[in-house]
Amino acid sequence: MRLFEYEGKELFSKYGIPVPRSKLANDESQVLAAVEEIGLPFVIKAQVLSGGRGKAGGVVLVRTKDEARREAGRVLALNVGGEPTRALLVEEAAQHGEEMYVSVSLNRGRREFVALASRSGGTEVESRAQGAVEELPVPLEGLRADAASALGTKLGLEGRTSSEFCSILLKLERLSREEECELAEINPLAVHADGTLIALDSKIVLDDNALFRHPEFSQLPPEDPLEGEAAKFGFAFVRLDGNVAVVGNGAGLVLSTLDLVADAGGRAACFLDLGGGAQRERVEAALRLVRGLPSARAILVNIFGGITRTTDVAEGLRAVVSERPMVPVFARISGAEEAEAHALLSDSGVPVFRTAQEAVLAAVRGVSP
Ligand code: GDP
Ligand code: MN
Repeated sequence: MRLFEYEGKELFSKYGIPVPRSKLANDESQVLAAVEEIGLPFVIKAQVLSGGRGKAGGVVLVRTKDEARREAGRVLALNVGGEPTRALLVEEAAQHGEEMYVSVSLNRGRREFVALASRSGGTEVESRAQGAVEELPVPLEGLRADAASALGTKLGLEGRTSSEFCSILLKLERLSREEECELAEINPLAVHADGTLIALDSKIVLDDNALFRHPEFSQLPPEDPLEGEAAKFGFAFVRLDGNVAVVGNGAGLVLSTLDLVADAGGRAACFLDLGGGAQRERVEAALRLVRGLPSARAILVNIFGGITRTTDVAEGLRAVVSERPMVPVFARISGAEEAEAHALLSDSGVPVFRTAQEAVLAAVRGVSP
């Protein structure tokens, strides 16, 4: 689970990593109220989970109240990487020079945690040459102060900056271990004129498999509201970037349907596994959920009836498509009671097929221009 910048910065504060003073705001009036507390100039930052906010106009320096009003409205209406702004972070503007990069992350290939640091952080960090990045393996029992300090020396840091860097790296590593993160990143870690450091951005990815040990994080709203909705029904749901919403019973069946869609030249809008023994209410809930996907131009339902009664599925489909106009639904229904299920759908407007291939082709054709 990825945290928003402000949530990550709350963790930074908890561990003693310096961050600018800030306030979360949900509308223009809260931004203006924050002016009183934070003072001008300040930075307005779009709270989204996608990266690259800076380049997308989601990070702006504000010098006057007028600008604050105008920019609050603009950033609230902004989309970053297709993701609408969820809130604004109003933050004291940093006056800084150099922008460094530092992170602790899980390297799955090497089965170890690794600290990365670079003198040249900021928004272009991904496109820079690898050579500028120093790397340090992190032992499971934690990073030692002498190793952290040696990393600072390798980076050519001196004096106050070197000791602050060492202390921040050790805190970041402890945070990553105790909160069970896959990634804890500060970019940029800004250098003030007096050599002190401050974390201007946070990127934290928690290990989903360890979330049960951290009840505090389960209070957070899910990253994707549809994922939260899906979790209520126990569906396995993943949003994808195509336009054919794929629903089926059984993870293997849904995955193979995604392959068929790709083979047919289409792109899936989601993966939704109803689970085994899907009953009518679950089918209905799944369809109501995927029709809320803005990118879906068609819904493809692939059901193999073993434990699942296909007549239940057919009744669920009928009910949902008759509720209100929605994108076309294509169904593959086979297995127990399939003849009855097909008959139930004969006048519903839902084309129903015996094989997955046929249903996939119809759905993909349905969305092609
Ligand atoms: P990202 O693009 O999503 O990674 O957003 P960041 O929070 O990293 O901000 C992007 C860039 O905006 C940073 O690299 C900084 O150069 C700049 N920036 C962010 N906060 C401040 C600030 O308080 N003062 C100044 N001067 N620049 C900032
Ligand atoms: Mn950043």
